[in-house]
Amino acid sequence: MSIFEHSEFDNHEHVAFCRDKRSGLSAIIAIHNTGLGVSLGGCRMWPYKSSEDALHDVLRLSKGMTYKAAMAGLKQGGGKAVIIGDPSTEKTPEMMAAMGKFIDSLSGNYISAEDSGMTVIDLKLIEKTTSYVAGTHAKYHLDNNSTDGNPAPSTAYGVFVGLKASVDYALGQELKDTSILIEGLGQVGMRLAAHLYKSGAKLYVTDINQVNIEKAVQAYDAVAVTIEEAHSLNVDVYAPCALGATLNENTINELKVRVVAGAANNQLEKEEFGEILMTKGIIYAPDYVINAGGVIDIYHQSIVSSKQKLKEHIEAIEQTLIEIYRRSKAESKATNLIANKIAEERFGK
Ligand code: NAD
Repeated sequence: MSIFEHSEFDNHEHVAFCRDKRSGLSAIIAIHNTGLGVSLGGCRMWPYKSSEDALHDVLRLSKGMTYKAAMAGLKQGGGKAVIIGDPSTEKTPEMMAAMGKFIDSLSGNYISAEDSGMTVIDLKLIEKTTSYVAGTHAKYHLDNNSTDGNPAPSTAYGVFVGLKASVDYALGQELKDTSILIEGLGQVGMRLAAHLYKSGAKLYVTDINQVNIEKAVQAYDAVAVTIEEAHSLNVDVYAPCALGATLNENTINELKVRVVAGAANNQLEKEEFGEILMTKGIIYAPDYVINAGGVIDIYHQSIVSSKQKLKEHIEAIEQTLIEIYRRSKAESKATNLIANKIAEERFGK
C-alpha cells in the first residue's frame, strides 16, 4: 500500500523513515501540518508489533498535535516521532544520538519533546546532536518544586480549569458541591486530585496501582472504587486520566455522570461516541482541548514569557471550552466535532 492511501495519512506534509544500522534505530518522524508554525510533538518509544502499527500511531498522533496546538492558540504545527523498540531493554545513548541527527536533518520543521517510553534524560541525549528539542529545561513553572521540563503540572492545571468551567456550564454549580471520579492517579491525575480537593470537591478514585489509590485516600480524603464499578458510579463528573478509549461500547451506556472532563488522550474510542454523549445530555470536554496545558507549557519555555503569562494562557482553556459548548448547543453537533471544525478553521485545512 502506498503511504498516500494510508487511512491516517490526512495530507501529512512530511513523513521520514529513519534507520541507523549502527545503533539499531528504527524510527518514523511525521509532520502533519505547519500552517500555523513549525511542528512540535513528543517522541514515543514503544515495542510496536510491526512497522505498520508504528506508522499508524505516528500519523494519528501527529495529526492530533496539529489540532491541539490550533485549539490552544499556539503558533505551532503538529508533528510526532516514534522509535520502534522496547524502551526498557533496547534504548541506548547511541540510539538517542542517532535520533537527534535525524531530527536535525529536518532543519527545525519538527521539534521533539517527551512522550511514552522516553524521559527528560533521553531528550538530553538527543539534544547532543540537535537543538530542535523542547521540554528539557523549565524557565517558567507552575509547580515550584519542579526543576525539570515535566509538563504534567501544567496539564493538570489546565484540566482543573477546564473541568471547573464545564461543571459551571453543565450544572451551574461550584466544585465544593460536586462529586468527581478520577480514573488514573499518575503524573496528571494525582495533581488534578490535589487541585480539586483544595476546591472542596468530593473525590472518588480508581487506579491499577494500589499505592496511588492509598495516597489519594490519605491526602485528598478520596473514596477508592474498583475499576469495574468506576464507569457506572453515580457522580457528577468522570475525569479519565489513565488510558485512551475509555469511552467505548462497554462504558458509554453505563455512565451516569453529567460531565466528562479529563487528561487522557483519545478518550473516545470512535468519533461518533461524542454524539452519543450529547444525546445522553453529557457535556464532553474534547480531550485535546482540555489537556493542552502541557503543550502550552512547552511552548512558553521556548519564548520570552513569564510564569504569569503561562498561567493565563492555560486558563484560556476555559474560554475555548465554553465557545465549543455554546456552538455545540447552537448547531446541535457533538463537542468533539465542533472542536475539530474550529481547529481546522484555524490551521487552514
Ligand atoms: P501516568 O503514566 O503518569 O499515569 C497514568 C496512571 O493511570 C497511572 O497511575 C496508572 O497506574 C493508571 N492506570 C493505567 N491503566 C489504568 C486502568 N486501566 N485503570 C485505571 N488506572 C490505570 O500518565 P500521565 O502523564 O498522568 O498521563 C495520563 C493521561 O493523560 C495519558 O493518557 C496521557 O497520554 C495524557 N496526557 C498527559 C499529559 C502530561 O503532561 N503528562 C499531557 C497530555 C495528555
